[in-house]
Parts: sequence; C-alpha cells; structure tokens
Amino acid sequence: MSFPGTSAPSRLRRLLNPALQAAADLICPQLCCVCKVPQAHDAPRGVWFCQKCADELPVVEPPYCMVCGEVYDGSFTNVFRCMNCDGRRLEFEFAVAACRAEGTVRELIHQFKYERRLHLRGALAALLLRTLAEPRLEGENLVDWLLVAVPLHRSRERDREFNQSRELCQRLSQLTGIPAVDALVRTRETDTQAHLDRDERLKNLRGAFALRKPRPWQAEIALQGRRILLVDDVFTTGATTSECARVLRREGGAEKVVVITVARG
Ligand SMILES: [Zn+2]
Ligand SMILES: [Zn+2]
Repeated sequence: MSFPGTSAPSRLRRLLNPALQAAADLICPQLCCVCKVPQAHDAPRGVWFCQKCADELPVVEPPYCMVCGEVYDGSFTNVFRCMNCDGRRLEFEFAVAACRAEGTVRELIHQFKYERRLHLRGALAALLLRTLAEPRLEGENLVDWLLVAVPLHRSRERDREFNQSRELCQRLSQLTGIPAVDALVRTRETDTQAHLDRDERLKNLRGAFALRKPRPWQAEIALQGRRILLVDDVFTTGATTSECARVLRREGGAEKVVVITVARG
C-alpha cells in the first residue's frame, strides 16, 4: 500500500501550528468522539478516540472470509470462503471492513447517518483508512486507484440531505490523496430487502444503478482499466456493492473493484 499524505505544510505554518493548536486546545480541547473526555495535551490533532475507547473498538481481525469479510472466531490457518460466499457470484474482488457493526461503531454510524452529526465523518473516515492496511492491497500503488461511493437515490439523498458514503469517500480522499470520482447514480429505489434471500436481493437490485453521465461542462469519467475502491458505511449482504461493482466493471470497463467499509454487519 502506498499513497501520498496531505501536502507538506509550509515553514510558516509549521512554526505557527503548535502555538495555534495550544491556544485552540485551551479554548476548545479536542474531545474523544465516544466518551467526550478531553484528549491528552500531547495527542496529535485529528485523533478522534482516546486510548481507552480506541482499545475497545470492535476491530476486524483475521480470520475473516476472503470474499465478504465475514468475521469468524477461532484460528483458521487456511484462506477460506464462508458458506454464504461458496458458490455465489459476486462482482467485486473482495470486501474488507475496519470494524464489526457493534457497540460504539454502530452507535457512531447511527449518529452520523440519522442524527446528522456530520462532524463524525472524520472519525469514521479514520476508521475506514485502516482497511487500506489489508495485506491484499499491500504493494498496490493506491494513488493510481479511484475511490467511488455507493450512491443514494435522489429522493433518499434529498431527505437525508447528504450521502454518507460520499462524505466518507471525500474525507478518505483528503487523507490519502487517492482521487474520488462520482461515477455512479442510483436510478431506482428498492423496497426493504429484509424479507428476500440472497439471490432475490441481487435480482431485485438489477438495474438499480447506472454510470453517471457527466453534464455537458464536465469531463468524462474514464473508468476503463481502472482499479476501484468502492466505499460504503456498512457491508451487510454484499448485494448492493456487488451490483455497483457489476456496473463499474461491465459498463465502465473497470479492471477490478474492492469494497471497503467502516463496518461489517
Ligand atoms: Zn474515549
Ligand atoms: Zn463470505
């Protein structure tokens, strides 16, 4: 894995930053986004979790399914596919999540999405960043990849006033320098899929996404031969991300799609 960080600060900014940050900490100390306890004075800016809360995050650790990222207890030594993925045709290469959708992580995502606590996108993007340490992305020059968000239907986005995946995608792009492109649209809203089995979910989503056509003044989004990190907040069955990956590959000509999410449901 390699990517450039944010650009190096100028000399003046380097000189000013410590003094300005010390002043900012006095007026408004940096708080842990979970327990709200002020962070230690020597904690770097942009650290969202205090040590105690960071240690308690339900981080995804191996072993997990090499396709869908489903976490398993126990010690598998071999590469394995879970029963759910066996014999199933998914259009993405694999999916990897930073955390399990439990406890504080589930709560943070809920506050971000449904209580409009938009500042939490920083904390969630910091978690998402961890997925790039996935061993299968090692050796990849990720700055040559593209970040693409799972889109919301226009009416859903109008109600929520933002698309949580796009917010995470843009923040991750700022953190890593990997370009983000708005490549997909959701053309059809589907009813809740909870009552459908896995094949019915895929069928139900067929045709629900399309490549976004650029406006006359916008440049064409070239996906041909590109490698894509598809970003979503939570991965559940993989039906939505698989359908997005299908459109990116079959219609856009993308070479491969890897799904990265903050949480694994
Ligand atoms: Zn804390
Ligand atoms: Zn699986």
